[in-house]
Amino acid sequence: MSKKLFTGTTNGLELWVDGQVLEKLRQEREIRLAARLNPDGTKINKKVTKPPKLIDTFIRQFLDDVSQHNGCWISKENPTMTHYRRILFCGRLVLLHRLIYLLTRGEINDPSVCHHCDNPPCCNPNHLFNGTQKINVLDCIQKDRGNRPYGELASAAKLTNDEVLEIRKTYKRYSKTFGTPALAQKYGLGQASVSKIVLGKTWRKVV
Ligand SMILES: [Zn+2]
Repeated sequence: MSKKLFTGTTNGLELWVDGQVLEKLRQEREIRLAARLNPDGTKINKKVTKPPKLIDTFIRQFLDDVSQHNGCWISKENPTMTHYRRILFCGRLVLLHRLIYLLTRGEINDPSVCHHCDNPPCCNPNHLFNGTQKINVLDCIQKDRGNRPYGELASAAKLTNDEVLEIRKTYKRYSKTFGTPALAQKYGLGQASVSKIVLGKTWRKVV
């Protein structure tokens, strides 16, 4: 499979792009451009006929737009962002790291592209890998995103850790005062939520 090398003009970053993918994207651009022309070849209107950037130009601009932080390729314009980068590409909003993965590795056969570096805005192709959703979750667990708030510190938490412990301690099956319905009412929860707490399906880290 042929690979084409692109180099950033300002930072020397290199991107080896899959030749077949490049060709496909070029064709897609041609199709989209053609769709914006009337049968006689005249433009439909000025606004929609603004041609998408050439793929090669897009890649060079991408390389010039990123800088390295601990090996991660981060947007120069917005280096503090923490979420996935989205860009308009061939008229579609796409996740940039997925596009870079596609360009450098070929097809994405799987719905998820994951980060070895655990840094969502990073677009360094060497930090990206393809995996199933399951592997994605396992990967996150293995890396233990320990700084993600859990328990009462999570923003959506309705309970304190002490209340969770209290529910587990006082719960008595079928009891009118300490059964699921009673505890649900006492703490303003759904009965299913109480069951999950008692069974340890939720608030797992609170023991
Ligand atoms: Zn990275």
